Amino acid sequence: LTMKPGEAIRVGNVIVRRTRRGIDALRLSETRAQHLACRDMLTGLFNRRALLDHLHACLATEGRQHLLYMDLDGFKDTNDVYGHGAGDELLREVTRRLNRACPGADMVARVGGDEFAVLLHGAEEGPTELAQSILAQFEAPFIVGGYRVALGISIGIASSATGDSAEELLRRADVAMFAAKAGGKNCARAYDPALDAGREMRKRMEQDLRQAIERREIGIVFQPIVDAGRQRIVCVEALARWSHPDHGAVPPQTFISIAEESGLIVALGRDVLAQACEQARDWTVDLAVNLSPAQFWDRGLCHTIREVLEATGFPAHRLELEITEGYLLRRPDAAGAILDQLRATGIRIVLDDFGTGFASIGYLQRLPFDRIKIDRSFIKDIDEDSGASELARAIVAIGDALRLPVTAEGVETPRQAMVMRQAGCTRLQGWLFGRPMDA
Ligand code: C2E
Ligand code: MG
Ligand code: MG
Repeated sequence: LTMKPGEAIRVGNVIVRRTRRGIDALRLSETRAQHLACRDMLTGLFNRRALLDHLHACLATEGRQHLLYMDLDGFKDTNDVYGHGAGDELLREVTRRLNRACPGADMVARVGGDEFAVLLHGAEEGPTELAQSILAQFEAPFIVGGYRVALGISIGIASSATGDSAEELLRRADVAMFAAKAGGKNCARAYDPALDAGREMRKRMEQDLRQAIERREIGIVFQPIVDAGRQRIVCVEALARWSHPDHGAVPPQTFISIAEESGLIVALGRDVLAQACEQARDWTVDLAVNLSPAQFWDRGLCHTIREVLEATGFPAHRLELEITEGYLLRRPDAAGAILDQLRATGIRIVLDDFGTGFASIGYLQRLPFDRIKIDRSFIKDIDEDSGASELARAIVAIGDALRLPVTAEGVETPRQAMVMRQAGCTRLQGWLFGRPMDA
């Protein structure tokens, strides 16, 4: 092969250029690989590995590290109801809001499905303020697939002392986050060594509850509901009771929420329904049973109820299911279809704790309820405060406008009973007429 000098230089240039391009490409893919290894694909945030590496490095330097560990409230529900596409969309919007709330943060990471972390380096009093601005970002509802979704965030805060390991700091922030969840959700809690004991206890409670359900140790009591006119018992509400071998009676709010978080609620709910139907079968009054969100969205719900009715011989037309408004409105169309299916069997549906959720009246109108039950909080202050009576009357008027009969719950005094009867309630429930009692 012969080449003129000019040509040789040209070919040489091409080779050099090609090689350089090759090296550049190699470098690029190396950075991309590094980038991918420490990033979460969906949100582009740093991942758990990157957070731990960075935390290790920071803890080796001077100054305090503050770690905020966060878990979304209500994300699992949304994912179940709207599907994973909507869930992904939601996580990306959460990421945008976190970035907006934390411009000065050292690192924002997604550490698990719906868990996030923010690392704040050095600042003395920054973490609480940062938590507040994150919470503020969650005040506005999220819009997914055209629906408004209310989402909260529970935040745990841990600050480093000398000698702390990254893993220990992460654990403490996680424990604090759990305390924020247990303390009502959508709030922030700072780590405190006393919380460790609480966390252990809750884990043990979950195991004990699982065992109690398996051994059929969850009991039920019945509270009478009377008609407002003659004040005779027309219905009873079944309420679950659990007596723990060491701790005694556990409040239903506590064990129901443990059951909901751990998925035990489906088995527990079925057991309560079966016991209630068995014990109340030969009475002449109606029977009301509470239903949790996780049970409501469970695909097997209708089937389970039919099975229980068949096995116990309890007539469907005497059964009422009490459900609360919050979760129905997240997806009114799907909720409506489930309610129709339940009502087709002859069961009636009662909207429980009315007035406490963020219900939009317009949506409620679209859902087929048979009755609403006004929350106790509206009845409680009737004796002291005339404004409270007005409010209670206004709530009953909403029920009338929806053409639904109204029950008042938590009636403790004759005056409360009178005000609610005059307001138009057709049924009353409360200690004035009877406490929850065994069959
Ligand atoms: P809820 O369905 O709104 O039940 C009414 C609650 O108010 C009951 O509390 C009842 O004992 C209480 N109550 C009734 N009358 C009065 C009164 O005059 N004054 C006062 N201060 N309280 C009154 P309980 O039994 O502690 O249940 C609390 C909540 O736990 C229930 O609220 C319900 O949401 C939930 N729950 C109880 N049993 C079950 C169950 O089997 N399944 C589900 N999913 N939830 C349940
Ligand atoms: Mg109820
Ligand atoms: Mg209620």
